[in-house]
Amino acid sequence: MTDLHLDHDLIRRYNQPGPRYTSYPTAPHFTEAYGPDDFAEDLTAGSTNTPLSLYLHLPFCRSLCYYCGCHVVITRDPDRIERYLEALKREIDQTAARLDPNRPVAQVHWGGGTPTYLSPEQIRDLGTHLRERFTFAAEAEISLEADPRTLTEERVAAAAEVGFNRMSIGVQDVNRKVQDAINRVQPTEQIEDAVRWARDHAFESVNFDLVYGLPHQTPERFTNTLDAACRLAPDRIALYSYAHVPEIKKHQRVIDEEALPSPDEKVRLFGRALERLTGPAGYRFIGMDHFARPDDELARAQDQGDLHRNFQGYSTRANAEVVAFGVSGISQLDGAYAQNVKALPAYYDRVDENRLPTYRGYRLTADDRLRRHVIMQLMCHFHLDKAPVEERFGIDFDTTFETALEWLRPMEADGLVTLTAEAVHVCPPGRLLIRNVAMAFDAYWTAENEQPVHAQTV
Ligand code: SF4
Repeated sequence: MTDLHLDHDLIRRYNQPGPRYTSYPTAPHFTEAYGPDDFAEDLTAGSTNTPLSLYLHLPFCRSLCYYCGCHVVITRDPDRIERYLEALKREIDQTAARLDPNRPVAQVHWGGGTPTYLSPEQIRDLGTHLRERFTFAAEAEISLEADPRTLTEERVAAAAEVGFNRMSIGVQDVNRKVQDAINRVQPTEQIEDAVRWARDHAFESVNFDLVYGLPHQTPERFTNTLDAACRLAPDRIALYSYAHVPEIKKHQRVIDEEALPSPDEKVRLFGRALERLTGPAGYRFIGMDHFARPDDELARAQDQGDLHRNFQGYSTRANAEVVAFGVSGISQLDGAYAQNVKALPAYYDRVDENRLPTYRGYRLTADDRLRRHVIMQLMCHFHLDKAPVEERFGIDFDTTFETALEWLRPMEADGLVTLTAEAVHVCPPGRLLIRNVAMAFDAYWTAENEQPVHAQTV
């Protein structure tokens, strides 16, 4: 995809903090007016034919990486993990009881934290519990996140035994200076072992997570990381931008701000990755941080118009409803979002009292559904035909989205989009700024913000 040239001036002008659209409306719009009873009602009302995507949040890690933005609990106490797993199984039971037992599970994801911090026995036990409570589709995509530092072949074997067929490995950066600065030292041999074990145990797909914008990263150092990653040939690569927000994530204060790349340097790091990955390495830019081999399911789903976006990023299970378990987990039903409590004591209290641990959520309006559809189409396919949207939602596109189209005019002038009577098309330079395009259709964003061409750079 050599047409994905990085125009530094455009990126500088449009690059601004904004939603990643893993949901619409985004999580800040969730409200505590939506509680466990609402979620119970929405769960039960779900169509029995709609497949399920199950997300399990396993928050435990052995040590804290200073750049971490996840909801984590650092512990070396096995009893704490055991206590959590008992509660998690209880929550699974309480939720499963509200769903049609024949609804097919098309997708499972264990995230965290570090799911592979569980022992092989715990992985087997939890995986089996889930299979006993739900009906898994034969071709279900079952994935977990793995930390090479605590992964062992026994853990990989246990995961394969209970059906895992995809693994996402946290690589971040292979340079020792960067690793020291983020408190995550992992020799490359550990990453190589993780990949070999995944392949030996018949995992169908391996993903690497890389992060740019970390302390002491330079284009040269990051090239080493990209080359090391490409040598191991993962099927997918997720390339995340480090968000330095020490006022929210207090532990990030430990990071030496002087050592962080400037916004311009960050753009150069991203440019280097784009060059390397979509050049000779042969990956395709899927959209928002994600790259995949052209024969990978994600790329094929994009070709077939079947790609979808949820809290885990891009997904090939287009019509599945996400049901989440564990602290901070977010469920995404067709008509509502629901988030679990974040603190362990509150989680245990709720689950022990046989209550769903939902603490906030959101029920979508008709306008939210329409805008969600438009935003997800653009995020996944970089193109939107107006006629099918008009037919599906009974609207006149140009009238309903007059403000959005107005908002897009400067982007059209900059060559990011093409606006015709029939469609909105995102041109290659606009694909790297896809969320700016999506923001035009976000009623909450356009009501609160200036047009993106006037927005501040990062
Ligand atoms: S292993 Fe992952 S989740 Fe755990 S602290 Fe490090 S970055 Fe955060």
